[in-house]
Amino acid sequence: MTDQPTIAEREASSILQTYGRYPLTLVRGEGCRVYDETGQEYLDCLAGIAVASLGHANAAVAARVARQMTKLVHVSNLYYTQPQVELAERLKDLSGLDRVFFANCGATANETAIKLARRWGQKTRGAECYEIVSLLDSFHGRTLAALAATGQPKKQAIFEPLPTGFVQVAAHDIDALAEVIGPQTAGVMIETIQGEGGVIPIEKGYMQELRELCDRHDVLLIIDDIQAGIGRTGTWFSWQQLEVDPDIATLAKALANGLPIGACLSTERAAAFDYGEHGTTFGGGPVVTSAALAVLEEIEARDLLENCRNRGRQLASLLTALPGVSEVRGRGLMLGAVLDSPRAAEVNRAALSNGLLVNNVAADTVRFTPPLIITEEEVNEAVSKFSASLQAGSEW
Ligand SMILES: *Cc1c(COP(=O)(O)O)cnc(C)c1O
Repeated sequence: MTDQPTIAEREASSILQTYGRYPLTLVRGEGCRVYDETGQEYLDCLAGIAVASLGHANAAVAARVARQMTKLVHVSNLYYTQPQVELAERLKDLSGLDRVFFANCGATANETAIKLARRWGQKTRGAECYEIVSLLDSFHGRTLAALAATGQPKKQAIFEPLPTGFVQVAAHDIDALAEVIGPQTAGVMIETIQGEGGVIPIEKGYMQELRELCDRHDVLLIIDDIQAGIGRTGTWFSWQQLEVDPDIATLAKALANGLPIGACLSTERAAAFDYGEHGTTFGGGPVVTSAALAVLEEIEARDLLENCRNRGRQLASLLTALPGVSEVRGRGLMLGAVLDSPRAAEVNRAALSNGLLVNNVAADTVRFTPPLIITEEEVNEAVSKFSASLQAGSEW
């Protein structure tokens, strides 16, 4: 009798090989736990890269989605639909921004932001005003323009030529930023914590100087809150604890707890699109926007911003105390445990075999972005599993 091929084997011969996947096939989730095909349980402290903030199989989201699925799934943006407008109103209330465009993911939210900034520059400051400044080690997505804004030369080089009109400077060097800003600059795009770059928090002082610089030169401040937004750092949006207001902000990851959605928010001043200048078939559909409404309700009803702050403090202080951890970076429940040597990949492997999902976001850094619903006991459990993994990782 011949053995059936495994999912991993079938993946290897059917999927474009762009992902180096961890060796497990997940079939089910509940709260902060996921289960593989053998029934093995894992404590999920990654949450699908800061997406499943309400945990897996959240009942309120599932019920809202199920109800909407039987009512109206898709009609396109040729017509008004109620959940889209309700979600826009909710996001306006929470963010203080004025208008929303719904996209399908992070990259398309950032494409929207880039196009909006270019349109604004062209309309208010002239055809030569289109450049977007961003930071080295940033991550803004995989589409060509978002990649052009992503300050990672290695990721960019293999897809050249990229769209022009993008420039990157080092983080925390306000003079370098001031140097590149000129009449050609339409916007500065920035993450408040560089997630994919290794969980590098951008300092409040630098963010405030950046805001002043943008004001002085009449340039738009675009905050990419795709990973850090929707409660991840302990406030609805990450900029709210840094006391800077963006002109444009982008959201995606946690907004619909796993259904694909993106959003580009803007002030009235920056809302430069006219009819027909931008659009999407799927964006802002009734199902994903209903899911997002349920997400925002759950975060509020369950005080998850407060839980995020408390559990974030707990997780950071327990991780900091571990031998082998030299520093813990980040805010709220978006944390990077920096190891005393570049062995994050080994430690991550060990964590996997100890039933803990995290990820090695840099050679020496392990990222923790657990669901915002994580309990005190689950944080303790995660840290004890991680501690065991640090020991195992050091023996390899
Ligand atoms: C994940 C991410 C993106 C890209 O989102 P996709 O949905 O994968 O396109 C962009 N910016 C930041 C900061 C992200 O973390």
